[in-house]
Amino acid sequence: MGKAIYPGSFDPVTLGHIDVITRASKIFDEIIVGVLINSSKSPLFSIDERVNMLKEVCGGLKNVRVISFDGFSVDFAKEQNANVIIRGLRAITDFEYELQMAQTNRVLNPQIDTLFLTTSIDYSYLSSSIVKEVASLGGDISRFVPASITKKVYDRYKTNGKDIKDE
Ligand code: ADP
Repeated sequence: MGKAIYPGSFDPVTLGHIDVITRASKIFDEIIVGVLINSSKSPLFSIDERVNMLKEVCGGLKNVRVISFDGFSVDFAKEQNANVIIRGLRAITDFEYELQMAQTNRVLNPQIDTLFLTTSIDYSYLSSSIVKEVASLGGDISRFVPASITKKVYDRYKTNGKDIKDE
């Protein structure tokens, strides 16, 4: 079913993001994960770090590519020859903002549609911000992010995580 982009900050990538990427990769021939360079939030990880983490965890998915981008998602989609933008919907709280974004993007480029994948129930509470908050307090983030990412997040906060700290 063609090509789609999945734009986001991914600061850092969570199991919720991976769930969306994995499911989208079964629907589309190719998924381009677009990592936003100029996020208004000041990120914990640099753009290169975020791209590399995503490449590492998406390595097993052969039709997924990871690229950084700046500016409008619709422009990035057009540049990549994709006509679909994928976004994840967790709860009703996501809906208002996402609807507004999708409608704005449609005005900016009517050729490009936004497709929402609803989160798996296991990850409906999960966000990059929650990961950062728990890690900053030394809590266990092993159920939130892939194993290879856990240490990188703890290192950034110089915390060791609950399991290690409790020993
Ligand atoms: P942004 O800053 O653009 O919201 P994020 O990295 O926070 O970037 O999220 C990227 C996309 O992934 C968004 O569409 C968001 O709704 C979705 N997403 C984030 N966490 C989850 C999750 N746990 N389950 C499903 N989708 C999610």
